[in-house]
Amino acid sequence: MRVLVVEDDLLIGDGLKTGLEQLGFTVDWFRQGKEALSALSAAPFDAVVLDLGLPGMDGMDILQCWRKAGQDAPVLVLTARDGVSDRIKGLDSGADDYLVKPFALGEVAARLRALIRRRHGHSANRLNHGRLTFDPEGRCAWLDDAPLELTAREMALLELLLTHKGRVLPRELIEDKLYGWGQELESNAVEVYVHHLRKKLGASFIRTQRGVGYTLGEPA
Ligand code: CA
Repeated sequence: MRVLVVEDDLLIGDGLKTGLEQLGFTVDWFRQGKEALSALSAAPFDAVVLDLGLPGMDGMDILQCWRKAGQDAPVLVLTARDGVSDRIKGLDSGADDYLVKPFALGEVAARLRALIRRRHGHSANRLNHGRLTFDPEGRCAWLDDAPLELTAREMALLELLLTHKGRVLPRELIEDKLYGWGQELESNAVEVYVHHLRKKLGASFIRTQRGVGYTLGEPA
């Protein structure tokens, strides 16, 4: 899941980026309000973490611009302003949730997962497909009761397929979900991850729609 973080504070921003990446998210981090404004439309983000106090352009103004432009990615607002009126204003401006600083990284991650889950219409924590179970929070997957050994990117691809059941995902979209800006990407990376997942879950687990992309296939 790819997340846009907009936070001018170096310590907090770096902590969010590093921490969320360790928890399996793909993260792009912006520090300036104006830069962040166009970022949301430039890649397929699943959610946004938005600080309100930003140089250049206030977070609340960014949020209003996004919503006016029809951007519907869920937004988790971070704010030091713990006044009730600011929270109400944030939610009225189109925020989906908010956290008051200081916050725990685990809580940011949990709320992001909940927002993304709701957006995809899932209410359960765990994702299932046949004998396969995937736990997005614990970053582990099982076939029946046997844990699978998956790399972080294989896990991310599996999560992507499971949250988009019945949809064909173009290779470019998968690349954009798995890699943030500035991350090194081998030209056949997606094919390699698909190959690895098929080896671990069965050849028919991922179907190739020639010329279009990949889709979740038969349950293992
Ligand atoms: Ca700030």
